[in-house]
Amino acid sequence: MADVTPQSVLRDVFGFDAFRQEQQAIIEHVTAGGDGLVIMPTGGGKSLCFQIPALLREGVAIVVSPLIALMADQVAALRQAGVRAAFINSSLSPDLARDAEQAMCDGKLDLVYVAPERLCTGRFLHLLGQTKVALFAIDEAHCVSQWGHDFRPEYLQLSVLHEHFPGVPRLALTATADEPTRRDIVDRLDLAGARHFIGGFDRPNIRYRIVPREGGVKQLIRYLRNEHQGASGIVYCMSRNKTEQVAGKLVEAGFKALPYHAGLERRMREHNQQRFSAEQGMIIVATIAFGMGIDKPDVRFVVHLDLPKSIEAYYQETGRAGRDGLPAEAMLTYSAGDAAKIRRFIDDSDAPDAQKQIERRKLDALLAYCETTNCRRQLLLAYFGEQLDDPCNNCDACLDPAESYDGTTDAQKALSNVYRTEQTFGVSHLADVLIGSESERIDRFGHRQISTYGIGTDKTKREWQSIYRQLIAHGMLDVCGEFGSLRLTEKAMPILKGEQTVQLRKEQPKRKEKATSRSLTTIELTTDDQRALFEVLRAKRTELATEQGVPPYVVFNDRSLIDMVRRTPTNLDAMRDVHGVGEAKLEHYGEVFVNIIRQHVTTGP
Ligand code: ADP
Ligand code: ZN
Repeated sequence: MADVTPQSVLRDVFGFDAFRQEQQAIIEHVTAGGDGLVIMPTGGGKSLCFQIPALLREGVAIVVSPLIALMADQVAALRQAGVRAAFINSSLSPDLARDAEQAMCDGKLDLVYVAPERLCTGRFLHLLGQTKVALFAIDEAHCVSQWGHDFRPEYLQLSVLHEHFPGVPRLALTATADEPTRRDIVDRLDLAGARHFIGGFDRPNIRYRIVPREGGVKQLIRYLRNEHQGASGIVYCMSRNKTEQVAGKLVEAGFKALPYHAGLERRMREHNQQRFSAEQGMIIVATIAFGMGIDKPDVRFVVHLDLPKSIEAYYQETGRAGRDGLPAEAMLTYSAGDAAKIRRFIDDSDAPDAQKQIERRKLDALLAYCETTNCRRQLLLAYFGEQLDDPCNNCDACLDPAESYDGTTDAQKALSNVYRTEQTFGVSHLADVLIGSESERIDRFGHRQISTYGIGTDKTKREWQSIYRQLIAHGMLDVCGEFGSLRLTEKAMPILKGEQTVQLRKEQPKRKEKATSRSLTTIELTTDDQRALFEVLRAKRTELATEQGVPPYVVFNDRSLIDMVRRTPTNLDAMRDVHGVGEAKLEHYGEVFVNIIRQHVTTGP
């Protein structure tokens, strides 16, 4: 095996053509025995950074991960690619665990996944002492930091690895990139000499879209029907109750949907997560408790029905879409009331004032992101200190550019309306006053008599609501109180006094519903014939996966199937060029799929 190289492993084992970003540099560094810290966004391809060195270096690679639930799928995926891998964790019976340990000690494994608490037991360390260890990979390394939200005390013990195995390279990996977390990882894991590999934050295949919330679940159902029929996705909501309600309504509307939140019994949660991972076209409606440990590659959409907590949270949650690199969408619906709710959470929390101040600023940044007329990706990346030179052309602001106009007069009307109604009303009522609504509420509060009543009849209620949201995002209005009443800030004064102008965005007319569905296969596959073949291949994939009790994407992911449809390989040699087809998969599945394709090509659909 003289000329086994990172490239040849990438091609022959994993079936991929080229490395992404820093992968190659990392792999070469670790293979040569260096320590490293890898920060790469979700879906960036961190796993290969230790899997390939594991195959190139002598001995077994030990992969530490806190996500026991995921180990089985990851190991299944490796085995499908012909890699000798196993996991050892509390879900195994003692007998099976012992067998795996034995295989490890006998040099029969290239990769072993373990949970940190097991790795750091005297017994396991002793076993490793008698084994040739190729490297340690510490996945989800941010768990060592008290800064983040995923702190796991067990991770602190991992510093012993350095003491026990000084010559073995260690690679720490995470998607969390803030500076304090990074410092903690280096300090606590004793990685002072490690080389840092910081990947970019951009997820070019995710399309960002933000729309005003209108019509609750109906809006969601319409969106899913039009754009994501049959696709898997995540819908985030703020409350447990809401996840159950929304999931119920989706099911009524004919979707496959399940709720997920921390209040569900553990077995139920695991069951729902399992189904999400294994089934096609499943939608999970979740609170943010559903997060870490989703590495389903074909999540086609992430919808936020409520405003997330911060841009960081938004980035992390939307990052669960499109790990496979294929087009995916992050869609957020929000209303001004959301900001009020979050502000109240912050105000009511026990956090020290300094912390509250930070959180308020984070919320403001998020609102500015929601209301921007510029490329969202540029703004998002700028928030993380990264510059994207050109607008991305894959966000709503780029694709559907909004016109902006001198909105000073409108802003004056809207702001003085807040003042006239004594700063005690929310957006909806304020807009009603401006358009001169005849509602009972208007009379109840005597608002027909005030000077701003009916001064905005040139616009619709919806347009005024948008103006209010923008003024909030500009910091001229504060949302407060239980009912989201608006209050003027000092930034409103120069506008009211006519000393300053403000640019506003014109509200887009309601999107015309697209007749065509934009599901992945319709984007990627252009003819009915192609789509028919895709369905046949997909059915075969499901059948093979079910037989083996593994998730379908472990057999082939969608990208591989799409590539098969495009290339229509009718012999094994041609099949080898398909994305994700390495030697092991070629041997196991090549013939079956080639036969299906051959039949399709000769007899037609
Ligand atoms: P992360 O752990 O960084 O979130 P993964 O390692 O799970 O990401 O990789 C995400 C997806 O990208 C996986 O489906 C993986 O097979 C795929 N992938 C990784 N590297 C490459 C590559 N060089 N070429 C093609 N696909 C890749
Ligand atoms: Zn853009």
